[in-house]
Amino acid sequence: MTNVLIVEDEPKIANMERDFLEGSGYTPFVAGTGEEALEIMRREKIDAIILDIMLPGEDDGFSLCRKIREMTDAPIIFATARTEDADIVRGLGLGADDYIVKPFRGTVLIAHLKAQLATHQRLLGKEGISAQTEKGLQIADLTIRPKARQVLVGGVSVNLTGKEFELLYFLARHPNEVYSKEQLFQQIWSFDPIGESSTVTVHINRLRDKLKNATGKPYERIETVWGAGYRFHVEEKENKQ
Ligand code: CA
Repeated sequence: MTNVLIVEDEPKIANMERDFLEGSGYTPFVAGTGEEALEIMRREKIDAIILDIMLPGEDDGFSLCRKIREMTDAPIIFATARTEDADIVRGLGLGADDYIVKPFRGTVLIAHLKAQLATHQRLLGKEGISAQTEKGLQIADLTIRPKARQVLVGGVSVNLTGKEFELLYFLARHPNEVYSKEQLFQQIWSFDPIGESSTVTVHINRLRDKLKNATGKPYERIETVWGAGYRFHVEEKENKQ
């Protein structure tokens, strides 16, 4: 059973999406606001999210995406009303996996959903990452439990600040991908244009120190790629624990 959360405030579109998902064998949940969406995320095991951008209430789709990303690695597909929004989705690096432009046909929605779920499954197998929400992220001896904001390395709990946690969790969710200091700064420090990207270096160093203290040896997964940025290194062959 594949549970799909639809976040959409226009009942007509929400119903259309729900009908297509049901017709294709998925189990849809519908939320009209960010609050409702987060409530469903906490209550249900959601395997994919279809996310509208313009939403009533506190969170728009962009900020909601960030919050959902802290809870799960399930694929997120933005449903955008304007093509400009698609550019924003691509540019922000919010952790969204895909987008479709409204109005779209149900068959297109299902095709995107299928592709994203398949990619996600492949990544889970290949990278040896288990992404169940309850268990958190598991990469070899590293465990990240986003709900509890807890990090264990080799069974030893590591006490991280909020930003250190977010930085580690972001890098670990995107194994072997290189991110520049600027990208990481945008990602973790909420796109604040005033801040300093050197903050990232400081936090990376602290993170490495803390992980090193926990294991008693240098933590080598967080790599510096000279002139480019940082990446979280995972061996292709590393298997699920
Ligand atoms: Ca809307």
